[in-house]
Amino acid sequence: MQGKVKRKGQPLVRHYTNNMKIPKKIKVAGHIYKIKWDDKRLSDDGYVGESDHHLDMIYLCRYFKREQPRTDSEIEETFIHEILHAIDVNYNNHALSEKEVTRLAVGLHQVLKDNFNL
Ligand SMILES: [Zn+2]
Repeated sequence: MQGKVKRKGQPLVRHYTNNMKIPKKIKVAGHIYKIKWDDKRLSDDGYVGESDHHLDMIYLCRYFKREQPRTDSEIEETFIHEILHAIDVNYNNHALSEKEVTRLAVGLHQVLKDNFNL
């Protein structure tokens, strides 16, 4: 699950011209996770993403608390965050902390965006 990531002093702007295409499904460890956009499910509590490893679902929000639109790069980062949770659960015995997943997602998102024209 990912809550609002606070970045001190960073304005809410688009940093990239290209957007990562978020698919409807993604396969992790042989499991097909469905991607569902669901602001009602998560957004009231301030969460912007969740992965369910029993139902093989990843939920994403387009808004923060149903009001504040999220940038494409924020949504992409959340998507990567939830993928990392799925990788962690399926390949890593669920050993990563929430903070570790968050940090790795920020780093992986940056490397993918800056090097693969996504
Ligand atoms: Zn999380």
